Amino acid sequence: MQRTEPARTRSSVARPAPRGGRRVYPMRVGVALVLATLTACVTTPITGRKAFVGLSLEQDKELGAKAYAEMLAGAPLADQKPQAAQVRKVVERLVEVAQKDVSIPFDWEVHLIDDPQTVNAWCLPGGKMAVYTGILPVTQDAAGLAVVMGHEIGHAVARHGSERMTQSSGVDLVLAYVNGTYGGDYAALGSQLAALAVILPWGRMQESEADEIGLIYMARAGYDPRAAVEFWKRMQSMTGSGGPEWLSTHPSHATRIADLEAQLPRALAEYEAAKAARP
Ligand SMILES: [Zn+2]
Repeated sequence: MQRTEPARTRSSVARPAPRGGRRVYPMRVGVALVLATLTACVTTPITGRKAFVGLSLEQDKELGAKAYAEMLAGAPLADQKPQAAQVRKVVERLVEVAQKDVSIPFDWEVHLIDDPQTVNAWCLPGGKMAVYTGILPVTQDAAGLAVVMGHEIGHAVARHGSERMTQSSGVDLVLAYVNGTYGGDYAALGSQLAALAVILPWGRMQESEADEIGLIYMARAGYDPRAAVEFWKRMQSMTGSGGPEWLSTHPSHATRIADLEAQLPRALAEYEAAKAARP
């Protein structure tokens, strides 16, 4: 797995030349930029896709935490409800699996938000999550929750939010941030990441990738991956015209269920292996 190493990138650009040491050639800056670009190429777990992500995993965590505080401010939490215990248990098992694919420890955290009208859930870059009570009638049980949260954790582990930020903000801004020369509004970057990671619709590729990662993660966590197909059928039959928020940010495609069914043999093999390994 190739991962961005921000410290190396930062020092190669910002560290002053040693006194009496080598001369600093302007070319060094160019070389550093090339190196930063190369080190920003990451390999997505499960799918093996190569992606260009300007932010480091540490920055995913920092900006994700900023965005989380903003998004939870004033939100009615339902963490004392019995369903919250199930959410935490499912997430804990998925996180145990997902963390193995992330080279630094994420600050995983989940809250249940008391909002029966909102059929939604998300996971920010860096691992901060929320589940709205409105999605619980669709998830129905632990396996259904594992479908949704496996998918959301898939977005975070695949770095989709930071990848989009890299694309939308431009390489220059992201590199300035990585190199510590960014002079803009830090909080605004967090908000931007939240919008890109949660509010705006994902692209088709990112949705398919999150589906694929989520399916494998739920299987590895010991949840029957066949529940994913059932969940999506339920979601389709329970949604009227326009669909709920989770669908509006997660565009439904006619091929989604077919794709999941095609990936089931691999997921079922992982599921059987996970069951055999559990005491
Ligand atoms: Zn999604």
